[in-house]
Amino acid sequence: MSAPVSDNPLPLSQQAIQASSTTSAQEAANAPYLEGLNPQQCEAVLTTEGPVLMLAGAGTGKTRALTTRLAHILATRKAAPWQVLAVTFTNKAAREMKERLGALVGDKVEGMRWMGTFHSIAGQILRRHAELVDLKSSFTILDADDQVRLCKDLVKASKLDEKRWPGRLLAGVIDGWKNRGLTPDQVPVKEAALFAEGRGIDFYHQYQIRLRELNAADFGDLLLHNLTIFQSHQDVLKIYQDRFAYMLVDEYQDTNVAQYLWLRLLSASHKNICVVGDDDQSIYGWRGAEVGNILRFEQDFPGAKIIRLEQNYRSTPAILGAASGLIAANKNRLGKTLWTASKAEDKVLLRHVWDGEEEARLVCDDIEAAQSKGRSLSDMAVLVRTAAQMRSFEDRFNLAGIAYQVIGGPRFYEREETRDALAYLRLVRNLDDDLAFARIVNKPRRGVGEKALQMMAITARELKISLHMAASQLLANGAIKGKAKNALGLFLSQLDQWRGQVNDLSATEIAALVLDDSGYTDYWKTSKNPQAPGKLENLKELVQAAGEFDSLPAWLDHVALVSELNENTGDGLVSLMTLHAAKGLEFPFVFLPGWEEGLFPSQRSLDENGLKGLEEERRLAYVGITRARERCFISFASNRLTYGRWQASIPSCFIDELPPEFVDTDSGQTPVSNGQKTRFKSEAFSQDDSALHQIDGKAERITTSAKKSDFTVGERVFHQKFGMGSIQKIDGNKLDISFDHAGEKRVMDNFITRP
Ligand code: ATP
Ligand code: MG
Repeated sequence: MSAPVSDNPLPLSQQAIQASSTTSAQEAANAPYLEGLNPQQCEAVLTTEGPVLMLAGAGTGKTRALTTRLAHILATRKAAPWQVLAVTFTNKAAREMKERLGALVGDKVEGMRWMGTFHSIAGQILRRHAELVDLKSSFTILDADDQVRLCKDLVKASKLDEKRWPGRLLAGVIDGWKNRGLTPDQVPVKEAALFAEGRGIDFYHQYQIRLRELNAADFGDLLLHNLTIFQSHQDVLKIYQDRFAYMLVDEYQDTNVAQYLWLRLLSASHKNICVVGDDDQSIYGWRGAEVGNILRFEQDFPGAKIIRLEQNYRSTPAILGAASGLIAANKNRLGKTLWTASKAEDKVLLRHVWDGEEEARLVCDDIEAAQSKGRSLSDMAVLVRTAAQMRSFEDRFNLAGIAYQVIGGPRFYEREETRDALAYLRLVRNLDDDLAFARIVNKPRRGVGEKALQMMAITARELKISLHMAASQLLANGAIKGKAKNALGLFLSQLDQWRGQVNDLSATEIAALVLDDSGYTDYWKTSKNPQAPGKLENLKELVQAAGEFDSLPAWLDHVALVSELNENTGDGLVSLMTLHAAKGLEFPFVFLPGWEEGLFPSQRSLDENGLKGLEEERRLAYVGITRARERCFISFASNRLTYGRWQASIPSCFIDELPPEFVDTDSGQTPVSNGQKTRFKSEAFSQDDSALHQIDGKAERITTSAKKSDFTVGERVFHQKFGMGSIQKIDGNKLDISFDHAGEKRVMDNFITRP
């Protein structure tokens, strides 16, 4: 990978200007904002008229070129700030773009009223014309939770079988149609007949009617109503076509059909639209994104200028090589060449760890080591596949006093379900914990209404006793009656029971018991809240975290401590987020934990979408690696505590796909190829070998055939975590062992010793 040599003596930005004959290009010749951009980037900045597609790999400066283009449009007064539409993928990205733009053009940025996500911009437009779709401009925007509740009510009202057609499922179906830009009248009849006992279209109609009655719009409506308005009111469409003299869209590969149609309508007259993206970074297929939108841009906008950027300015050769080698395994891609001028020699570090705890500890050690060499904590990011993986890192950070932030969601101990669960357990430990009592006495709803709660609060205050004591008294003297009496009585006796068992059970057992008996786990199991599955996972994660402590009090003390130790040290914050949330961002140090089959690639994604799902997961891995500027650390554990049970885990198939010349392996452990490929593995292998070799002629896979174990069936062996057991079966280097106390497990032979 080396820099191409140019024989043009002019600076790169001047070369592009030389190539462009527009007056504004001449005007901009000395513009400071063009400094340092390469000719292709300059071209993207200066070709302001007509459609432009910048299609390029990660870190090639697409967002930078897009921001500079915006600066150029404003600086050369081609348009006023309010005449430019700039779409970013998140509100955070919009804020960042605004900041960078501010640095380039000063306070002109203040007038950029139309910069934001599709939803925020479409929402603003809808407020102005709400009456055209029978809404008032004060309409409420419903969140996913409300949406599901509404569907649930409608399922009942339509006398549909609630088990067969849960509200959540139908809300998802309607969302899918909206993502495709389909109103009830436009949904294909045959397709709709598959839902709601053949009444899919009617159900969708009813749902929309109900929204109008509530003067509400859901997320999908924001765009869909815009489309309806634009299509049926040419005059309104024209206002916006005239208003948005220039349109710029980042992360175009993740637009859905509705967003695509919206952009097409708005840009139809002037066609001054510039979109940028990377087909290899399309990671929102599960939310209706269509990577095809970017691939057919040229057909949609004939004469479009296509600009390809090949120099990666972000990462080292090893990071780029590892990411490119990995993504080469995907069949459905355009394929591109990337190079970097960086001469850095560090390789990607692949680490094989014993379990999640060790993984978190090593990440913290690395962070501290970097910090001691003068790096800021804000230089580091840990990117996980699922939010539940965050807990072990948060615990470690807290213990080590490493300040961190969770991007895109609350921190583990601040989550609703974590707080609820801990409130139950705090109350079991301490009946006087009024905060905990108040939080969960009626959660899940058990019929202790407002009135009963008020009586308890008043009594507690007057007699200076705890809420729990007040509840007991009010029950004893008959002041609380009816349903509340029974419910509260049951709850108090459950509390007594749990307290009676605290000394006999482990912290994990008592936590699981309390959450199950109290109905709290069921509350989320039966909830139609789309976040419920994630919340259940977090609860399991919490329960299993208790396993690290001898007793409930020891665990609760630990939790209380770790959730307080969170002072910002003034040296920035480590960022912890999901891979999805990391799109478009970059950090000098990136940690990618949990590269194990089932976790990453996610089993759910494979089960639901097969090879397509695997390819999307692989793009996610590509996004993850390419966030790193200097160092990238990938790790996988041999054992994962999943849902309270130790499971031997198998390295992710993506690990095999990293070209070995770009990877260093830690502590002498070879990256173990499992010999037990995923279902899709063989397909991925057969089509990607040649692609891999394109990156570098000598690319080879990390292949370590599973050597046969020298243990024998029936032999007694010892495992550090599971204790003594007998070997039942041997499969290469994996052993099925019946442990005396831990039950049947499959483990790798290098973690087994002879007693
Ligand atoms: P992604 O695909 O991840 O969104 P991107 O293509 O949008 O990446 P940017 O974020 O714009 O890439 O740029 C990546 C990094 O390279 C940034 O730090 C940016 O400032 C830097 N960069 C971009 N263009 C240049 C350039 N011409 N010279 C030096 N650095 C550059
Ligand atoms: Mg970008």
